[in-house]
Amino acid sequence: MSTLRPESITVKAGRPEEPGAPLNTPIVMTAPFRHDPVDNHYARHDVTDTVQSFQTVLGALEDGQALAYSSGIAAVSCVVDTLPVGTVAVVPTGQYSGTVRIFDEAERLGRLQVRRADIADAAAVGAALPGAGLLWLETVTNPLMAVPDLPVLAAAAHRAGAIVGVDATFSTPLVVRPLDHGVDVVMHSATKYLSGHSDVLLGALVTRSAALYDTLWQRRSLAGSIPGGLETFLATRGLRTLALRMERAQANAGELALRLAAHPRVTRVRYPGLPADPGHEVAARTHLGFGAMIGIELDGTAEEAEAVCERLQLITHATSLGGVESLIERRARHEVDASFGTPDSLLRLSVGIEHVEDLWDDLLQALL
Ligand SMILES: *Cc1c(COP(=O)(O)O)cnc(C)c1O
Repeated sequence: MSTLRPESITVKAGRPEEPGAPLNTPIVMTAPFRHDPVDNHYARHDVTDTVQSFQTVLGALEDGQALAYSSGIAAVSCVVDTLPVGTVAVVPTGQYSGTVRIFDEAERLGRLQVRRADIADAAAVGAALPGAGLLWLETVTNPLMAVPDLPVLAAAAHRAGAIVGVDATFSTPLVVRPLDHGVDVVMHSATKYLSGHSDVLLGALVTRSAALYDTLWQRRSLAGSIPGGLETFLATRGLRTLALRMERAQANAGELALRLAAHPRVTRVRYPGLPADPGHEVAARTHLGFGAMIGIELDGTAEEAEAVCERLQLITHATSLGGVESLIERRARHEVDASFGTPDSLLRLSVGIEHVEDLWDDLLQALL
């Protein structure tokens, strides 16, 4: 399977192969399994075929072993909960608000020592690393759109004796495979692009280390953060079209970013695909695309930025991202995002797969 290209893996992997089998792995709804002479299966430990099918496709895409979780944040928690008390964790100054909260709480409880660094600045990360046990990154930060240099930071972390985890939710394995750049564990909120239809809450971790896989498997089993059968079925179904969805969403985003950058009401567009973007060089060198998330800063107040969201008709004013439908929100409305300096007027646009001219017409009428 690993010789196939990702577009084919998304279609081919994780299906029953034996003669007479259904083409798709059925939704298996069970907690217990009947005893057999040697094993004692239970779905919190030994996932069903439905969950395994999702793990197989994602594992093949990342060329590692995948573990599915009941949400993206459950996957982050699983990594954090395996760290011994007192571990030094180096984390981004600004990142997904739920992850900020997890590290803040671990610090407050005295579980971890947390050091925050601008992960787009390799020297700043390097200065924070001595004594660290974990470096946590995002492939593209939410919502400030900074792009860390994965190979450089992973090498620095390993020299310091730290393992490296990265939240690749904004990128998907089609845009970057962090394990190829030396990262130890990749995390996805499969709620977003991997499922792709905004109808599922699901997370995943992928690693190439058998020892790390084992530790994470044990922790997931203890915490009970296994996903449901329906969710993983929907996610696997979503993965089948991931390549096409990403292709269209990225093409739309690239075009909209260019047009928005030239709009008089827009003061800054944060999108690594724009040559002037601070993340452009790193993304062009280490990623295969620029993703479909755009940060739009407006000339105006928070209220005026909220009003733009309200005037949009095709683009939906809602949190979340990565679905077929375009979503937008002013991120500083969230206390955590405001706390790490997200500009008041910054709108995070998740570009979907609609017709680009319809999206542009909608933005034009709303930006006035
Ligand atoms: C949504 C999101 C998460 C959390 O995932 P859930 O599936 O909602 O728990 C983590 N990281 C990023 C970048 C996200 O966008």
